Amino acid sequence: HQMDRLQHLLSVPFNLDGQKYPSTISIGMAIGQPNLEYRPADLLRDAHTAMYRAKALGKTRFEVFAAGMLTEAVNRLQLESDLITALDNQEFLLYYQPIVSLQSGVLAGFEALVRWRQKDRGFVLPSAFIPAAEETGLIMALGQWIFREACRQLRQWQELFPQHQHLTMSINLSNRQFSQPDLVTQIAAALEETQVSGECIRLEITESMVMGDVDRAFDLMLQLKSLDLKLAIDDFGTGYSSLSYLHRFPMDTLKVDKSFVGRLENSNEDRAIIHTILNLGHQLGLDVVAEVSETEAQVVMLKQAGCDYGQGYFFAKPLDHQ
Ligand code: C2E
Ligand code: MG
Ligand code: MG
Repeated sequence: HQMDRLQHLLSVPFNLDGQKYPSTISIGMAIGQPNLEYRPADLLRDAHTAMYRAKALGKTRFEVFAAGMLTEAVNRLQLESDLITALDNQEFLLYYQPIVSLQSGVLAGFEALVRWRQKDRGFVLPSAFIPAAEETGLIMALGQWIFREACRQLRQWQELFPQHQHLTMSINLSNRQFSQPDLVTQIAAALEETQVSGECIRLEITESMVMGDVDRAFDLMLQLKSLDLKLAIDDFGTGYSSLSYLHRFPMDTLKVDKSFVGRLENSNEDRAIIHTILNLGHQLGLDVVAEVSETEAQVVMLKQAGCDYGQGYFFAKPLDHQ
């Protein structure tokens, strides 16, 4: 109750040069226990940890310190510290998952998916480290490495298998990379260095990246298109795409999110949603890829519905370069 009052009092907008500005406050609280000996510094540390938890949970709230929070914070710090050395130690590698044309059954390309092999943690999937890499900023250097490495691999395959020049490499971009001022220069340099032409590369971006500052995103996409790159919108249907913007963006591909494909076999309603997305994509002149096609039944339905490409365990899991 006291906390609520404090929160309320400190959240009153403040005056600056006659203008009112909003302020928010996140509070962390640690409580000493009579039978335990606390040093003041420990209490402050715990309150600090709780405050960061309050911020992480969306700010403008308060959290009371609990024992698990410290372990969690220490684990996170350890993860971030391990990540910093991972790039130098060459602990990252790329896996490649085939993307198959549903109508012809022919291999159309790959999506590059990053993996982390670490001595204590073993084989780590991106969901466990990409958020920390984003937060620490390591994603910039990592993303640059991923782009270059995927291009290098594609170039090598093009040289080994000259009859498969049409194969494309899809590469994921992270939020922070998308807002990096020198992204276009970096990509141009990597293409030049690896001797890969832009049209073989498909950059995957998500709805949330482009819906924030639409004008800036639009401008950036045009610059990327000027390098002949293909652009895909990843996990389509999970973000908050405004359909009124979608047709303005110079996109080539729409990747239907797994949540829709996964429900294909369940109900007519779910099939209707996929049909609608396919229609939308095709009306906008986009290729449609169904992510996470796992079963034969799904693949048959997707093919009948006119979906262009499939990617999923039914065809192959992500594989290393051999
Ligand atoms: P995404 O880009 O949507 O990638 C598709 C994910 O679905 C991959 O997970 C892939 O392994 C998984 N998948 C494909 N087919 C199937 C299937 O049939 N069944 C199931 N259960 N899963 C399937 P992964 O590799 O764990 O990557 C997860 C996410 O991490 C990616 O989602 C992407 O957002 C991010 N990510 C992966 N690699 C990179 C990268 O190099 N850079 C960046 N920025 N993000 C990446
Ligand atoms: Mg992707
Ligand atoms: Mg996806």
